Amino acid sequence: MASGVEPTHRIAELALGALKKIGLAAIPRNFEVWYAHAEGKNPALSRDIQLATDAFGKVTQDAADQLFKEHIQHADLSRDVIDLVTRFRAEVSDVYDVIEQSGENANDHTETLTGLSDQLRQTTEEYPAVGKLLESVITVAKDMRSENEVLENRLADSVSEINSLQRNVEDIQAEAMKDSLTGIPNRSMFDKALQQQMAEAVAGDEPLALVLADIDKFKSFNDKWGHQTGDQVLRLVAEVMNANVKGQDVLARYGGEEFAIVLPGTSLDNAHMLADRIRLAVESRRLKKRRTDEDLGVITMSMGISIHRKGDTMETIIERADECLYAAKDAGRNLVINEAGLKDMKSENRSGAA
Ligand code: GH3
Ligand code: MG
Ligand code: MG
Repeated sequence: MASGVEPTHRIAELALGALKKIGLAAIPRNFEVWYAHAEGKNPALSRDIQLATDAFGKVTQDAADQLFKEHIQHADLSRDVIDLVTRFRAEVSDVYDVIEQSGENANDHTETLTGLSDQLRQTTEEYPAVGKLLESVITVAKDMRSENEVLENRLADSVSEINSLQRNVEDIQAEAMKDSLTGIPNRSMFDKALQQQMAEAVAGDEPLALVLADIDKFKSFNDKWGHQTGDQVLRLVAEVMNANVKGQDVLARYGGEEFAIVLPGTSLDNAHMLADRIRLAVESRRLKKRRTDEDLGVITMSMGISIHRKGDTMETIIERADECLYAAKDAGRNLVINEAGLKDMKSENRSGAA
């Protein structure tokens, strides 16, 4: 028994040690995040922890809450909803089969009975002696027909109830894919879209570009104007970005103040033009505080773009876009850098150094 328990204690100790080191309280939600990290089975979480860790090796409680929301709470919710939908679909399809079959049977019986009672009526006219007996058969036939009608109506009601339940489940499922603050697709929808679009890019031999965008100096914006105003800015940025994507493009909230756009059928140059258009559109917005009309200054974004390569995994294509994004931050922010541009910059630096 000890062999199953011991490793969990080791992981828990690692998690607690890590919390202490990065200056976070050992409260349950923090512990859950760092336990999952120490377990090493969630590379997306571990990567986000790395991103949330500042130069002094510390993580803020805000960032820890975001990690919990994205990776623990949300993962559970979408898993539950998907399970529910799968079970529900299976049951609905079983019920449909039964309903269709009994509906057909009931109709067949009704037709037979109607025909039979018509024939019986004629027979009764010719042979009055058997009239009484046949009349009672007709009554039974009529009763059966009306019972069948009741059954059919009940079945029809059940079908419409099932349809409306199914619509509710679909609404819940769509809701679980949406980011609640901005209304655009969330990280889990992004993961699905990227995975699917990468498979389609391979199958159709089409280009596929990925843009990662991050608001510049957003921490100081929050510090200066408050978290709620920060939230309004996130909504506005999502709106501006959304106005610039179309068709198959998928814009998602990738993390706190990070957004991602999956651009199927788009070359690196075209993705760069689109990203730059968004960058300018965000920069040119005059931001005002809602109630007080106070000037909030300008918000800018840095972006990195990668283009799908043969053999790419989600991690590798994201990693290259991320590297470009960090280069854009390094080069002073409010800038778009794509992977071809980054390569040129690197070789220029090398030849400059030589
Ligand atoms: P950089 O230019 O290097 O990206 O600097 P930054 O300050 O934007 O980056 P950093 O990663 O240090 O800080 C991100 C900030 O984004 C910290 C956090 O308070 C804020 N943030 C993350 N999610 C939300 C959110 O949902 N609402 C608000 N208002 N702020 C958020
Ligand atoms: Mg960021
Ligand atoms: Mg930022």
